[in-house]
Amino acid sequence: MSRSVCVKMQLNIDTFMEHPGKRFPVDVSLNAGRATSMSENVTFLEDVTVRGEAYVQLTTLYLDTEIHTVVEQPCRRCLEPVREEVEVSERFRIEIPEGESSIDLISRILGFITAALDPHPLCRPDCRGLCPVCGINLNEHPDHVCREEDEDDHVRLRDFFK
Ligand SMILES: [Zn+2]
Ligand SMILES: [Zn+2]
Repeated sequence: MSRSVCVKMQLNIDTFMEHPGKRFPVDVSLNAGRATSMSENVTFLEDVTVRGEAYVQLTTLYLDTEIHTVVEQPCRRCLEPVREEVEVSERFRIEIPEGESSIDLISRILGFITAALDPHPLCRPDCRGLCPVCGINLNEHPDHVCREEDEDDHVRLRDFFK
């Protein structure tokens, strides 16, 4: 009876409104593909799950949640995908728009996850990145030296400064 009805992260708050201050369990999830399509530069490998409790006080919805998902972002140097597990607790305070009986959590939850992520992830601390000339991955080709047209001058200059 007290379970909240949630479809696609739409939180139905009718029951909450009828019982101000009473805590109700929340258990919603968002499909990984949908989350990916709504985010920039972030690929969701697992569905976003949001579990916790919620209650209404006057015109505010309080949501104590544990958010879990797994995402992938490009490494800032070599662009290889970097996997990151997201496991965060957060308390949301949402003003309920007048006359609304449900709250859309998607943009809030996704916005929160995006903000919690490392904005410039590295695949490993010593990632060598890409060759600035030809773009080859220097992690996979550590001995790579780029051949340029005026190669000889460059080599001589480099040797000179050693
Ligand atoms: Zn990298
Ligand atoms: Zn190169």
